[in-house]
Amino acid sequence: MAEPVLSRSLLSLTLGDLENSLAELKQPPYRARQIMEWVYSREKRVESWESMSNLPSTLRTKLAEYHPIRLPEVVTVSGSKDTTRKLLLRLQDGELIETVLIPASPALYGEESDRRTLCVSSQVGCAYGCKFCASGLDGWKRHLTADEIVSQILLAEKIAGERINNLVFMGMGEPMANYKNWLQAVTILNAPWGVGLGARKMTVSTSGLVDRIRDLADQSLQIRLAISLHGASDEVRSQIMPVNKKHPVSELMEACAYYGDRKKQMITFEYILIEGVNDDLSEARLLAERAKGLRAKINLIPYNSVEGLPWRRPSESSQEEFLSILRDRGVAATIRREKGHDIDAACGQLRRRVSAETPASPSVR
Ligand code: SAH
Ligand code: SF4
Repeated sequence: MAEPVLSRSLLSLTLGDLENSLAELKQPPYRARQIMEWVYSREKRVESWESMSNLPSTLRTKLAEYHPIRLPEVVTVSGSKDTTRKLLLRLQDGELIETVLIPASPALYGEESDRRTLCVSSQVGCAYGCKFCASGLDGWKRHLTADEIVSQILLAEKIAGERINNLVFMGMGEPMANYKNWLQAVTILNAPWGVGLGARKMTVSTSGLVDRIRDLADQSLQIRLAISLHGASDEVRSQIMPVNKKHPVSELMEACAYYGDRKKQMITFEYILIEGVNDDLSEARLLAERAKGLRAKINLIPYNSVEGLPWRRPSESSQEEFLSILRDRGVAATIRREKGHDIDAACGQLRRRVSAETPASPSVR
C-alpha cells in the first residue's frame, strides 16, 4: 500500500503529492503551487506555515499538522582557510550529519568561477564499510528522508546567502542504497516549482550498486554519475571495498556502459591514491583500459588522512607518474586537489561524530 500523503513533512512532497493532499482537504490544486512558492522561491523561502499569508488561517493550521516543515538545527558552521564551510546538522531524532559548501575556485574551474558546490549527505553513517573511508567507520544508522536531503540545500543557501549551483552527492552515506528517498529529493531539487537546479548540475557518486545504476539510467533525469572505483582489478578493489565481492568490476563496468549509453554522457571514475594499496603502475594501466572502454574520465584523489586509519597518500611524484600513465593512453584524467582538508570536510572525512567545537548537550528545538 502506498504511504499516505497526509502527515509527511512538506519538504518531502512533490507538487503532485501536495495536490493530492489538498484534494483530500477539498482544496483547489492551485494552492499547491502557492505553497511551493512560499518555501522554495528565492524571494520567499519561509520556514513556517504562519508566514504563508495568502492561505486561509484555518487551512494553515490544518496543513501545519499534516505537513510540518521540518528543518534540521544548524549546530556549527566551521570554516576553513580556503573558505570551505562545513555545516553540522542535528536531525529531529538527534542524529548528526554534515554538509559541505565548497566555494568558487577560479584556480580549479577557470571561467566557471561562479561555481558553488554543495557536498550532500544521503544517510546517517554508511553500511558499505570501505576500508579507507571515515563515513563507514561507525557503521550505518539510518537513511535520510527526502526532506532531510532537501533541507541541506536550503540551509546551506541560507547560510551562504547565495545560490548553490552545483550539487554532489558525495557526503556521508551511499545514495544508491537510499534510492527511493534520494530520488524523491532529487525530483524536488530539480523541479521548476522546487529548488530549480538543473539535473546536469548534480552528480551522484556510488560505490557500485549496479542495479540502482541501471534504474537511474532508465530515469529521464540527466544527472551525472561518478563511480568510486579505487581499484581497477578485482584483486585490489575487493581488498578495500567489500561491495566488490558482490558486484565485481566487470559487472560494474557493464552497468556503467548501460548508463553511458542511455544518457549519452561521460561517466567519472573517482580513484583515491593510497600508497602501497592501489597505486601500482600496473593498476594504472588497467585503469586506463577500463576508462577507455567506456570513454570515462578519471579523477585521481590523493588519499585524505582519516584518524584511526593507517593509510597514506603516495608522494607527489608517484601521483604524477600514475597520472601520466593515464594521460599517455589518451584518457582524460586530473588530480583533485582537495579543499577543506583542515576541517575534516574533504571527501571521505565526513563522519558521525561530534567535533570539539560542538556543544555537548543536545538541544531540543
Ligand atoms: N558512498 C558513495 C558516496 C560518498 S562519496 C561513494 O562511495 O561513492 C565519498 C567519496 O569520497 C567517494 O568517492 C569516496 O570513495 C571518497 N573517499 C572516501 N574516503 C576517502 C579518503 N580518505 N580520502 C579521499 N577520498 C575518500
Ligand atoms: Fe560508504 Fe562511500 Fe564511504 Fe564506501 S566510500 S564507506 S560506500 S560513503
